[in-house]
Amino acid sequence: MVGGGAAGLMAAGQAAGQGAETLLLEKMSRPGRKLRITGKGRCNLTNVAPLPDFITHYGRNGRFLRQPFSRFFAADLIALLHDLDVPTVTERGGRVFPASGRAADVVDALVRWGERQGMTLRTGSPVEGLLLEGQQVVGVQVSSGRNLHADGVIIATGGASYPATGSTGDGYRLAASAGHTIVPIRPALVPLETSGNIARKLQGLSLRNVTVRVMVDQKKQAEAFGEMLFTHFGVSGPIILTLSRQIVDALRDGRSVSLSIDLKPALDDRMLDGRLLRDMDGQGKQQFRTLLKGLVPRKLIPVACDLAAIPPSREVHQITAQERARLRTWLKDFRLTVSRHRPFEEAVVTAGGVDTAEVDPRTMASRLVTGLFFAGEVLDVDGDTGGYNLQAAFSTGWLAGMSAAL
Ligand SMILES: Cc1cc2nc3c(=O)[nH]c(=O)nc-3n(C[C@H](O)[C@H](O)[C@H](O)COP(=O)(O)OP(=O)(O)OC[C@H]3O[C@@H](n4cnc5c(N)ncnc54)[C@H](O)[C@@H]3O)c2cc1C
Repeated sequence: MVGGGAAGLMAAGQAAGQGAETLLLEKMSRPGRKLRITGKGRCNLTNVAPLPDFITHYGRNGRFLRQPFSRFFAADLIALLHDLDVPTVTERGGRVFPASGRAADVVDALVRWGERQGMTLRTGSPVEGLLLEGQQVVGVQVSSGRNLHADGVIIATGGASYPATGSTGDGYRLAASAGHTIVPIRPALVPLETSGNIARKLQGLSLRNVTVRVMVDQKKQAEAFGEMLFTHFGVSGPIILTLSRQIVDALRDGRSVSLSIDLKPALDDRMLDGRLLRDMDGQGKQQFRTLLKGLVPRKLIPVACDLAAIPPSREVHQITAQERARLRTWLKDFRLTVSRHRPFEEAVVTAGGVDTAEVDPRTMASRLVTGLFFAGEVLDVDGDTGGYNLQAAFSTGWLAGMSAAL
């Protein structure tokens, strides 16, 4: 077993529970480094969304997860953790967390469980290569140059994002050495940089209940409703991370990408115009900047004046129909140009990886090499925020552990 993250811990516990002699090799000094920082240290384990909806959160490769999910899904994970004295709570959006609010409790419980099941955990043990005999894996080479022989090897080394946690993409090299195709890896669930200095001016501002549309070469390609955040370099927050999957691909194809933020998604143009007219009627003697207080967060006021090209001190009764139309347009279509995405170091997950066409979804076994299995983010599967990535890691880990032990 290579890699003591979410997938590897689950796989090791499961394999050992089936009676297989199980050695879990983790290159860091402690297992589950990434797991400990998930969900801002609270670990959003999974989601209570029903299966048909759940599967839609992984883009085109969600189908691959049907089999692992049919064997071990959210309710099974919650029940297992409950048995391990880690009760869970379900929060907004169906997100499931340990009731203690501590990700470390999940790691500790999985390690204890694995050891009780009979696994041996060896930390500080990076795996450097696979031992292959023809089309069969017969073990691994560890850093000391020593060979460890095994009937089966599960690669659960994670992706290439947040490399300080130990997930440095080693699994791609190991898989490629066995002849596997690696779908090019890219950062996913990643913040975006925007042109100009608007984002910097708005740094720290969080917008709730907005719709963001992704415009690729000026055509709408995707949209999401929810919360976003301005940072010193650009934008982040839940809906930006979700939309980043398509944006990264478009940027890599050299296409122009902009974000169109609809600050008033509940109002169509006519309704918004009616609202503006009513507000303006009631506040004719006020300055434009005062009118804006009722329409947008305070930090956005100077940007609104700038982009709608209306002086902040203009008295509301002096605002022309044309200016009102400009304001309305800006409220529905606040544009930011995306210049680039942030690097792997800041990406929550990695898109791309071991081609799922070469892995049997019923067992997680390699279709190319006997005795080789894959689990977790090293596979070409990546999900939205909301507990989807960890559930994929736990389910594929469970199934790989089960299959490798047979
Ligand atoms: C900041 C952050 C927050 C996140 N929050 C959430 C969340 O709340 N909910 C959610 O669903 N997902 C979340 N994710 C994503 C989630 O953590 C990952 O998708 C998940 O951990 C993948 O599990 P894994 O076991 O495949 O890989 P990892 O958890 O990355 O584990 C891989 C392990 O393999 C080890 N390893 C690597 N190479 C070798 C080698 N050569 N030899 C031995 N060991 C090796 C690594 O040290 C590591 O311990 C978050 C990610 C980040 C970065």
